Amino acid sequence: MQKFPLGRIGLIVLDDGTWRFPAHFFFDNVPEAEWRAHVATDAEGKIPVGHNYALVEAENALVVIDTGYGDDTHGGKTGHLLEEFDRTGHRREDVGMVILTHGHGDHIKGNMLMRDGIRRPAFPRARYHLARADWEWFGGPGHVPEFDEQLATLEQLGMMVLDDGALRLTPEISLLPTPGHTPGHTTVVIESDGQTAFFLGDVCHHPLHFSHPDWVSAFDTHPGTTPRTRAWLFNLAVARDALLVCPHAPSPGVGRLRKTAEGFSWQPLQ
Ligand SMILES: [Zn+2]
Repeated sequence: MQKFPLGRIGLIVLDDGTWRFPAHFFFDNVPEAEWRAHVATDAEGKIPVGHNYALVEAENALVVIDTGYGDDTHGGKTGHLLEEFDRTGHRREDVGMVILTHGHGDHIKGNMLMRDGIRRPAFPRARYHLARADWEWFGGPGHVPEFDEQLATLEQLGMMVLDDGALRLTPEISLLPTPGHTPGHTTVVIESDGQTAFFLGDVCHHPLHFSHPDWVSAFDTHPGTTPRTRAWLFNLAVARDALLVCPHAPSPGVGRLRKTAEGFSWQPLQ
């Protein structure tokens, strides 16, 4: 848990955990020798992957962005978001809004947690926001169990809100459609007192995606769209001097982009 002041509000990164994952999935369209020149893997070809999500202490709202792996703990390595949340001193029932950047399991499995044989919302009074395009994509034919367990259940409880397009949710928080990783993938823009932060979701999975915006992961549903989305979003981030949260960068996954002669470079904040 790490707090970054942003104007008059607080941006807290909640660390769901780190586990090792095969690196080649993140550079799916890149010859192995090319990405290996930049990435040190272990003997199994794996690298540590962070899972950094967020709590925004806005002036009149507590907003969680993505909920992590929940009960899917990978042997205790992930699923720590709620413990991290509790360390902030806030109460779970005071969270009014959860924003889901997209429908993949590592971002939504903490929506509903199994307790005493019943799945219950982790934030019992929140409304959970997801882009309608992702609701339709992930709820389509052959959908995965976490759609039913983590999204459809919330819908049945009347707690899901499906959003279309760019939208301002509070004076400090707005949504930007950033498709490519998934059809409804959403970047969260947080603003206060002239300062801006972008919660990037999976626009990027690895800091190398900033310097190589045409390198895309195997998990992108529309990989042809990803480089175009990155091009305008990275330029916007530089123009706004935005603080960035890159969920899968090493913890806490926070940094800024700098424009260079070759493109963009990731400047992590320590
Ligand atoms: Zn992810």
